[in-house]
Amino acid sequence: MSSQPRVGFLGLGIMGAQMASRLVGAGANITVYNRSVAKTEPLRALGAAVARTPAEVTSTCDVVFAMLADPRAAEAVAVGGPDSAVAGIASRGSNASASTYVDCSTVDERTGVRVGDAVERSGGRFLAAPVSGGWRDAASGKLLFLCGGSRAAFDAACGPLGLDAMGHRRWLLGPGPAEAARAKLMLQIMMGNVVGSLAEMMAMTRASGLDEGSVLDILGESAMGNHLCAAKGKLMQRGDYAPNFQVYLQQKDLRLALQLADELGVPMPISAAANGQYIRARQMGLGDKDFAAVRAAYDAEVLSDKESPEVDA
Ligand code: NAP
Repeated sequence: MSSQPRVGFLGLGIMGAQMASRLVGAGANITVYNRSVAKTEPLRALGAAVARTPAEVTSTCDVVFAMLADPRAAEAVAVGGPDSAVAGIASRGSNASASTYVDCSTVDERTGVRVGDAVERSGGRFLAAPVSGGWRDAASGKLLFLCGGSRAAFDAACGPLGLDAMGHRRWLLGPGPAEAARAKLMLQIMMGNVVGSLAEMMAMTRASGLDEGSVLDILGESAMGNHLCAAKGKLMQRGDYAPNFQVYLQQKDLRLALQLADELGVPMPISAAANGQYIRARQMGLGDKDFAAVRAAYDAEVLSDKESPEVDA
């Protein structure tokens, strides 16, 4: 008799597809769900079972990971009615206590608390586990997991068919979702501002008549050089915005961070300005492009000579 846990995965977007594939590669007996059925096909081809609803996954699996876009998606899948993840956990009856629901989505702490409370009311354990790292890190098992929940939920989520297969470091930051959600937003403040600032510099580089490649080379050799700027700078230079981490998600993260800042009474003028640029990129129809596309938001702001205040004066 095998004591291997049955593993489930909800949400096969850019990140979830790689994370679930990683679990398959580790030998997990896995059942997956995605709202758009077409995205389940690559996992089915790898040997995963495909469920039609989140409840089908949680009613049969011991540890279920979710990787969903935003608070609305996380709640729709976890607590949205008779097909939801929570309904599936409750249907396990006395076996519900063996269920662990691990939400890896980047959401605010209120969403984490609502989902966590609902999971626990249905008899299961809950862990918030947002991640740092992109799909390449997911594919190579190098994600960082920022966790919040009970020790029992954390222990159930770790292991060779869980977080250890998908990531190489993990932190248990607090007994509930709040600390994990907040820590993830701290990283996203930096990410959004750094890439927003890079976009601004690249727009100025072009407007100044400088060679973008040379300026990126110099930046890379300077104290401001880092992997993120090197990678995103090249994408901005080429105008290559195939999605890795999409504009709509970075803007969501800045929105959630600004909401938290508002509640805590912390002014975040730099983040507020960067958020405006991501909103502008969304308005330009770039929401599903890589967040390097925030560079394009600056094109709309370059004044022609005719409109320039200096020429008018
Ligand atoms: P994505 O490719 O846009 O995938 C989003 C997923 O959420 C899809 O499975 C989508 O289903 C599902 N979804 C959206 N709205 C839904 C709803 N109302 N009901 C049910 N399912 C819904 O996003 P991603 O890049 O994988 O990101 C997922 C999460 O990870 C986000 O919270 C993001 O902030 C975070 N994250 C992303 C990265 C990255 O580099 N991409 C890195 C770290 C953290 P459909 O396929 O049906 O639309």
